[in-house]
Amino acid sequence: MYTFKGGTHINEYKLTKDYALKDIEAPDRVAISMSQHIGAPCTPSVEAGETVLVGQVIGTVDEGALGCPVHASVSGKVIGTEVICGSSGNRETCVVIENDFRGEIHPDVSPAVDKITKMTKDEIVSVVRAAGITGMGGASFPAYAKINSAAGNVDRVIVNCAECEPFITADHRLLIEHPEKVIGGLKTIMISLGVKQAFIAVEDNKKDAARLLRDKVADSDMITVCLMKTKYPQGDERQLIYALTGTELPMGMLPMDAGCVIFNAGTCAAIYDAFATGMPVVKRIVTVTGDCVSHPGNYVVPIGMKVSDVVEKCGGLVKEPFKAVFGGPMMGKAEFSLDTPVKKGTSAILLLSKSFENKPVPDPECIRCGKCVSNCPMKLMPAYIAQYSRLGNMEKAKKFGAMSCVECGTCSYNCPAKIEIVQYIRSAKNNIKAEERRVAALRAEKKDS
Ligand code: SF4
Ligand code: SF4
Repeated sequence: MYTFKGGTHINEYKLTKDYALKDIEAPDRVAISMSQHIGAPCTPSVEAGETVLVGQVIGTVDEGALGCPVHASVSGKVIGTEVICGSSGNRETCVVIENDFRGEIHPDVSPAVDKITKMTKDEIVSVVRAAGITGMGGASFPAYAKINSAAGNVDRVIVNCAECEPFITADHRLLIEHPEKVIGGLKTIMISLGVKQAFIAVEDNKKDAARLLRDKVADSDMITVCLMKTKYPQGDERQLIYALTGTELPMGMLPMDAGCVIFNAGTCAAIYDAFATGMPVVKRIVTVTGDCVSHPGNYVVPIGMKVSDVVEKCGGLVKEPFKAVFGGPMMGKAEFSLDTPVKKGTSAILLLSKSFENKPVPDPECIRCGKCVSNCPMKLMPAYIAQYSRLGNMEKAKKFGAMSCVECGTCSYNCPAKIEIVQYIRSAKNNIKAEERRVAALRAEKKDS
């Protein structure tokens, strides 16, 4: 069994693992965010009053900039734009479309699957970019840019099917119900990169999926399905690479430095769809779960559908949520409002009651148990970094490796004193980055004068 050093076994809460994928009907209106990827946000390319079709581009980024287009998930009339407050606190522009329920597909949506083997890397990349594919595991890094930077620098592709966060089962259902999509997308990536070796990494709490995948790749000597020990954060790319190749990647080094590039299972499936049907990312699988939702499950949700509409289609709320989280409970982000729309990176919507509250302890004291140190997958000394952050000593926090923290939250999860270690480290990282920006600006100013 493949694994890494450190980490922890977390109560899985995979309550929806046996719930088959269900399509959710699009609502009367969708609000499609222009900020759905790392990089420059899109600029709306449609105006109020215009009629749009499913799969039509409604937001673009400049050709040279990092980013990819966004598309209409319903057909209908553009109402205009609205500004929402995203989970990071940033203001995001959304294009609002009134659904005409015709579901008419834009003529640009056409398959390219027959041409894949004759396509150059640049042609494949251009299809992936045009389909607006970003990292579907939540990182939201544009997939075309990842293929571009990996070209010529890697000899292995890893498909991340670890899904190590509690509650989330979206990838698990994808692997069970559409393994051919994940494998098809992987093969496309391998063709574009000219790579002859790939690993599909599945945690051993998904043995059924691993068996299916093994059957599907039985005729390939290039693709290996690897069973990973169920341990958090197995899906972190540094831990995956260590577990599969034995190469340790300190902060500052990229998977490419180990000859690897990693794609999420959902990203591979989106790439498959882009070639098989030509359909860009207009829907995604979302695990809707938690003790506040009436019918939890794994739903195929149109991009831009508000959480409140999704919840209504899932039978509504059985109790008022104390917290609504996009993503998993360890690394997901709490949302301000249930009016937030689903984005390409939304793998899960967790609606949790107060019984899940991690009650803060006033002035918690470290008891020097060392648990945070032994569990940290990055081999840091979280207690020290948190302490220096608390004292405002960013120099020391940096010296103790604050910038190497991947913010997995394992330290906070295990701390018997209930110290919010990862919050202190996050704050230290932000302060250190702000200071670095300030120094760089001063240097630039000095150079100019
Ligand atoms: S210090 Fe960072 S990397 Fe280490 S366990 Fe805590 S959150 Fe994870
Ligand atoms: S786990 Fe908590 S109590 Fe234990 S050493 Fe780390 S910070 Fe201190």
